Amino acid sequence: MDEFIKLLDRNLDYISHEIIDNTIYIEVISNRESVSCKYCSTPSTKVHSHYNRSFQDLPIQGKKVEIILKNRKMFCLNPNCEKKTFAETFDFLSYKAKKTNRLENQIVNISINVSSLAAEQILRNSIVNVGKSTICNLLKKRNTNYK
Ligand SMILES: [Zn+2]
Repeated sequence: MDEFIKLLDRNLDYISHEIIDNTIYIEVISNRESVSCKYCSTPSTKVHSHYNRSFQDLPIQGKKVEIILKNRKMFCLNPNCEKKTFAETFDFLSYKAKKTNRLENQIVNISINVSSLAAEQILRNSIVNVGKSTICNLLKKRNTNYK
């Protein structure tokens, strides 16, 4: 399972997983030694706390995937920085997103040539539980000529 997680991001380590019905829940944690403050770019190795951040990713073996990241909140070590702490971020996941970028790409690729209702059905079958409005928002965000 660690290899699957490394395909998403080399900075993630697999902790455990559980299969419930049609979904695999995978717990992961960052393995970066230091994280740069997103406000002042100073590297930090001092962990403030962990909190769970969950999001959906591409299916594995026909099962939907929900990843639970033990996300780290770090102390900023720069005394002149306006922030005392900051959350670790990753390239595969946008700010506050509930789906990985690669999953969003797949939703757009599937939805682009069919009606949003048909797309919802195809996606719900084996890829991700997603509603029509989310599909439409993603298509709009990608600036496609979707009607
Ligand atoms: Zn800082």
